[in-house]
Formats: sequence, C-alpha cells, structure tokens
Amino acid sequence: MTLPPRSAALLRGGTVIAMDPGRRLIEGGDVLLDGGRIAEVGRRLRAPRGAAVADCRGKAVLPGLVQAHVHLCQVLFRNRADGLELLDWLRERIWPLEAAHDARSLRFSARLGIAELLLGGTTAVLDMATVHHTEQVFLAAREMGLRYTGGKALMDAGEGVPRGLRDRTDEALAETAALGRRWHGAEAGRLRYALCPRFVLSCSERLLRRSAELARREGWLVHTHASENPTETRLVRERLGTDNAAYFHGLGLSGPHVVLAHCVHLTAAEERLLARTGTHAVHCPGANLKLGSGLAPLPRMRRRGVPLALGADGAPCNNSLDVFHELRLAATLHLPRFGPRSVTAHDALEVATLGGAAALGLRDEIGSLEPGKRADVTVVDLRRPHLAPRGEDPVATLVYGATAADVTDVWVDGRRLVHGGVLRVADTGRLVAAAEREARRVVRRAGLDGA
Ligand SMILES: [Zn+2]
Repeated sequence: MTLPPRSAALLRGGTVIAMDPGRRLIEGGDVLLDGGRIAEVGRRLRAPRGAAVADCRGKAVLPGLVQAHVHLCQVLFRNRADGLELLDWLRERIWPLEAAHDARSLRFSARLGIAELLLGGTTAVLDMATVHHTEQVFLAAREMGLRYTGGKALMDAGEGVPRGLRDRTDEALAETAALGRRWHGAEAGRLRYALCPRFVLSCSERLLRRSAELARREGWLVHTHASENPTETRLVRERLGTDNAAYFHGLGLSGPHVVLAHCVHLTAAEERLLARTGTHAVHCPGANLKLGSGLAPLPRMRRRGVPLALGADGAPCNNSLDVFHELRLAATLHLPRFGPRSVTAHDALEVATLGGAAALGLRDEIGSLEPGKRADVTVVDLRRPHLAPRGEDPVATLVYGATAADVTDVWVDGRRLVHGGVLRVADTGRLVAAAEREARRVVRRAGLDGA
C-alpha cells in the first residue's frame, strides 16, 4: 500500500486539547492541517478550497502521542515470554528469539507493532531494534508512515548473550554509523537515527565511549536502558563500583540527547544528575509491573526536575503497546505511595506528549497542537459508554478511561493514516495472519517451540 497524500484537512468541532503553553482546552474547536504542518488552531476556522473536513464533534483532538521506549523487533514475541524477571526473560526467551529473526520476520514484527501503535493513537516512537537487519524496521516505518527514531541494538559483551547477537566492537560501531548515515533525516525528517547500546551489562566500556563520541559528532540520540531491575542494578554496582546512570555520565552518556529507559532503581544522586544534565528518563509502568521490576518514583523524579517521557517497552513484557494503558498507570500507580494529588491526569498527558517530544529531540516539531508544528494528531471518540457521562475535564476522561480502541483518526506528518478506526496503510487482517506465520517460524528457529 502507498502512503495517503499529505492533503489539507480541517478537523472541525472537537474538544481540542492543545498542550500549548496556555494549555488551552477549546470546546467546539478546529484544527487546520496544511502541507504536513498545523496551520491554525481556534474556533470557526474556514476550510481552504480542496481541504477535507473531518467532523470531530463528540471527540477529543489531541497532539499525536509519543512513546519514547519501544522494541518493534519484539512484537512477534508477544505471549511467548510470560512469568519471568528481566535477566531470565532476556536470556531464556528474548535474546534467543531476537537471534532467530531473519529479515522477513523482523519486517513483519515491525509492521505489526506499527499497526498497533497507529491504531492506538501513538504517532511517534523512540525504538530499539535488534542487532541484525535493522534496515527492515526503517523500511516498515517508511512504508507505514509512523514518525520513527531508532537504531541497531549494540551488544559486544555479557553473560548469556547468544553468539548471533554478540558483535565485535568495531564491526558494531561501523554498522551503526553506516545505518545512521543512511536513515537519519530520511522521509523529510520523519525517520531519524539513535545509537542504542542495549544496557551496561551487554556493552564494553569502549563500545559505550565510542557511542558517546559518535552521537556527539553526528547529532544523534542515544537510547539505552538503565536501572530497570534490582539484580541488574546490583550487578552493575558489583562489577563497576558505580551505578548505571552515574557510569553512563562518566563515559559521556548524559545530556539532552540521551534517553534512559526505566530508571526504576536510581539513587537520589542519580536522579539529581539526570535533572542537572537534562538526561531523559522513560517511565514504562506496564513493563515494570509485568517483569516484576519495581516502580519508578515518578512524583519524586518530577519534583526533582528529571525530564520524563512514557513508553510501553516491548510487546512480550507488557503485553500491549496501548499508550492509554501506560497513561492510566502513570496517573494512578504512584498515588498510594505519594498521595492522591501527586500525579494528575494532566501531568501524565504532558509526559506522553511534550515529554516524549523533548526526549526525541523534537520539542519544536511535535508534542502540542500549535501552528507551525508537524501535523501529528490523534482523535479519540468521547461518546463511548465507558467514557460517559463526560466530566468537566476531558483530559481526566481520557487518561483515566480511554483505551486504544477509542481512537478513530490519526494524522502523522499531515497524512491521515487511520480513518474512522481503520488503518489505511496495511490490511490488518492479512497482516495479523502473516505475523502469526512468521512468529511460529521464528519460535521454531529459536528452538523454543515447546517453551
Ligand atoms: Zn526496553
């Protein structure tokens, strides 16, 4: 299928949640999209000649949601890795399965994930691919219209890493640099590259230092994992005599271009370090619950000024990529410990819009509905039984009650990729059937048929 054209559109009469500096909520509001950008936000806007008009009455119109930590390469492994903690989950299931990917299975994994993300209102992601065939993930994102930043997973060390995933340091660096030069900025900037050292335990110090240098030289993001699980955090401390985020900082891996997924078990000094250096932490509550990893102290991190974003992480550790599930968890999970007002629905939505945009280095391009920004918009039907009757605050209605299935329309870069709840860039029935076949093949190749 080809991408729909980037045509002008007037989204008329919705409840506009702008997330602009004034945090405007406009009842009966209009959003005009033109040339891939937002042209105007207000009331009673006139549709230019030839513009499509989308009736958004009874719907919320919000900035496209951003997930700053996902693994499209793992989507085919959903429902194949339950009941395990992080290091066993990696060694027994995820690494053998990633090692068993071929180009075709990886392409279908990414396609399936992108279909789920777009149908659920996520318009932009920061992804970590696997070690091989990274171009397949970029090809899927190119073909389906998602705003994608990601890169090859870098692994040159570690216990339990299958031979197929352990690169030689220099080869990993050469391959990632070539991929970055090929893909960063492609599709008018919709595709961007990120260096993705997997985590401290699978990376040599030299790989991390060189990644830091390469990121600075090329202006690429660095996307990695830190302090997700207590055992991982303890092993890092035992081996290196320091903690994850502090170790990264010592190697030059801190700053506004560095994104650390999880940050569940940071020390107070590390939380202050992230705030001081502008290093982003990605809150992944669904995955942290399912792998039994712990709960990142979101209200305390916010208070300390740590830049925060939201992500579902991988399909086999969540098991959903529904951003509304993460929003609801982020807005409720911390209340027993920190109090009923410690995170509001507005705080959570901010993390999934402006926070994600900042983590992706796209603060001026996405994350709010403002003239001049990219036309990435999510429309949610508020007339569903489980959202009625409407309260006064549409943000609370969305954050506490909406699900991916309530999303009706999605624009990315001015292209309407979801229309009336239907994905326009893939036949979802055929995609699911093909993904089932590819999943069975990759599980067989990994020797995990009976697992
Ligand atoms: Zn992850």
